[in-house]
Amino acid sequence: MIARRDALKFLCAGIASAALPGSGAAAPQFPKGAVIRTVLKDLPPEALTGGATLFHEHLSLAPDFMPKWMSLARSLFATGGTRGKPAAQPIQPAPNYFMQDPDLMAEEMTAAAKDGVACIVDGGHPDMGRDLDFLKQISAKSGLPIVAGCGYYAQPFYPPEIAAWTEDQIAAELIRQVNTQPVGVLGEIGTWDVMTPDERKVFRAIGRTQLETNLAIFTHTNFGKGALEQLDLLESMGVKPERVAIGHVGGLMDPKVEVQKSICKRGAFAGFDRQGGAGDAAQVKMVMALLEAGYADQLLFSSDFSMGGNQLKRNGGPGYAKTLTVFAPKLRAAGMDEKIVQGILVDNPRRLLAFVPKNDRHATEVGQKPGRNRKAVVSEGGAI
Ligand SMILES: [Zn+2]
Repeated sequence: MIARRDALKFLCAGIASAALPGSGAAAPQFPKGAVIRTVLKDLPPEALTGGATLFHEHLSLAPDFMPKWMSLARSLFATGGTRGKPAAQPIQPAPNYFMQDPDLMAEEMTAAAKDGVACIVDGGHPDMGRDLDFLKQISAKSGLPIVAGCGYYAQPFYPPEIAAWTEDQIAAELIRQVNTQPVGVLGEIGTWDVMTPDERKVFRAIGRTQLETNLAIFTHTNFGKGALEQLDLLESMGVKPERVAIGHVGGLMDPKVEVQKSICKRGAFAGFDRQGGAGDAAQVKMVMALLEAGYADQLLFSSDFSMGGNQLKRNGGPGYAKTLTVFAPKLRAAGMDEKIVQGILVDNPRRLLAFVPKNDRHATEVGQKPGRNRKAVVSEGGAI
C-alpha cells in the first residue's frame, strides 16, 4: 500500500515537473504562418524537428576575414581591451580557402547532416565577405537547409557608409535587404569591445529592422562584454527579448553565471556558441548552473565554426556537427537529461528563428493551398 502510494507520488511529481516552464521538454508552439527562411525556400518550423539547428556558424567568409579578425583580436587584448588598430602582422589569407570550395563545403554539410544536424545558420553578411550564391549552392548540393544572416558585423569591419549614414538610412538598407534577399535572421550583430557610437547606431537600426520584419536577432559580444547593454538597447527600441539571442556569453567565465541568468530571466536567449573543443569543461558547468536555475528554454548552442584546418571532417576533425558530437556528450555525462539536450538543440533555435513574414517572397513555397492564386515564386535574388 505504502509502496503504491509512493509510486503514485513519484508519478505525479514526474508529471508536474514535465509541465514546469523551463523543462525544455514541451513542444514549442508557433504562431500561424510562421516560417524559417532558408536560402532556398521558407520552411514550416516543423520541418526541422529531425535534428539540431546550429544557430551561429560560418560557411562563407572572405579569405582575408579571419586573418584580419585574429590580427585585430590580438591587438585588442594586447591593449587591455580598448579598440586597437590591426597588429603589425601581415594578413595572410589561406590559399585554396575552404569557404570558397563548394565541393568541400557541400561534403562538410552532408557529413554534418549525417551527424544529426537539420539546419545551419550562417552568421555572416557582406561586410564579412558572405556570398549568398555560395550558400545556395552548398545547400542545394548537400540538401542541408541553410539560413543566411543579415546586418553589419562590428566597428572594425563596417563599410565606410556606416559612418556617413543616419540610423534611418541604415535601417532602410537593412529592410531593403530583408525584402529582396533570402535572409532569415539578423545576425551576427556585434560590438567589437566597448560599444562605439557607430555600433550604437547600427544596433538601433537593427532594432528597427526587427520590428519592421519580425526577423530574430543574434549578437556578437567580445567574450560576453556588454551583453546586457546590447539587450538594454534592443529592448529600448521595443524589440521583445524572446526575439534576441545574446552571443558568446560562454566567454564570461563566472561560476554563478550572473549575466547569463539575467539575460535568461528577461526572456532572451543566452548563446553558448563556441562549443565543441578544449574549453568545454567550464562551459558545461555554466550551462548546468543555468539548467538548475530553470532556464533550459533560454539556451542556445553552436560552435562559431570559422577556422577550417584540422577541424574539418575532410581532415579528420569533428566538422560542423561538433556541438552535437563533442559538446552534447559532455552535457549528458554531467547529468543533462536527453529531452533537455534535444529541447536546446532542436526546439530553442526553431523558436528563435521562426517568424511570420511581413513580405511573401517565398510564400508560394510554404503552406500553399492548391488553387489559391498566389504570386509566382520570385527567382532567386529577385525583388517583389
Ligand atoms: Zn561568428
